[in-house]
Amino acid sequence: VPFDQLEGFIWLNGEFVKWADAKIHVLTHGLHYASAVFEGERAYDGEIFKLNEHTERLHESARILGFRIPWSVEEINEACTALLAKQGFVDAYVRPIAWRGSEMMGVSAQNNRINLAIAIWQWPSYFDPEQRLKGIRLDIAEYCRPDPRTAPSKSKAAGLYMICTLSKHAAEAKGYADAMMLDWRGQVAEATGANIFFVKDGVIHTPTPDCFLDGITRRTVIDLARRRGIEVVERAIMPDELTGFEQCFLCGTAAEVTPVSEIGPYRFEVGEITRLLMNDYANEVRPGLRAAAQ
Ligand code: PMP
Repeated sequence: VPFDQLEGFIWLNGEFVKWADAKIHVLTHGLHYASAVFEGERAYDGEIFKLNEHTERLHESARILGFRIPWSVEEINEACTALLAKQGFVDAYVRPIAWRGSEMMGVSAQNNRINLAIAIWQWPSYFDPEQRLKGIRLDIAEYCRPDPRTAPSKSKAAGLYMICTLSKHAAEAKGYADAMMLDWRGQVAEATGANIFFVKDGVIHTPTPDCFLDGITRRTVIDLARRRGIEVVERAIMPDELTGFEQCFLCGTAAEVTPVSEIGPYRFEVGEITRLLMNDYANEVRPGLRAAAQ
């Protein structure tokens, strides 16, 4: 079934509309000029994990792009929760998106309406589940995460994903699952839709998120590691250092914690700290298991 023909409902500008009827005009500013921001969330056992943080980030992403979403954080939280119940899913992926509409056409779109849609579907595993257990293989992308003076890199803006899709497609064409992207300085940044971590001598190293998304999962994983007494160092990491790291993993809402076995010429083992954090994260996201762990 094509994705735009699924069953169920989409929340569109305050109303539940049938999935296949949630359409926009071809002269939408968000389509032509990428004036769109979105979120990716996951529900576990009927509860959206860190919903409020995601909704606040959505508002902040829009603010960075110079527009205000005409629904409050509380209203959006309620809409997400109501849609999850209406869709009848227990575990699901949640995608809110806000964009400038089709009232004016041109680079300037001061008076365009700000639209908001929320879709919820089932997306059990971002990477192939079998590959995921062995560790996925990453290419090194040719495109680099831009200087914050070149693009609004702190916003989860649709436009920033152009280089992600290009990089992911190039990696997939070579048989890799994804690509690791460097930033404009040549430092290790992140994957095309997830943050990256390395392990060496029992210490976790991860790039400082100064020109890419400081993922909500990233912050959760850092917190989980520190609760275990594992040291986490946020710093600039150069690609030639990859030879010295023993373990590597990605994390993100969709990717959860995913071990990495290869990045270009570099090899990693699926080690103890990676397994521990995969497990801790899997417990943290489920309300019942989270309560039991505390
Ligand atoms: N980086 C990029 C480019 C992403 O698309 C995502 C997924 N939203 C992340 C990092 C991880 O962010 P989060 O943990 O908040 O999902």
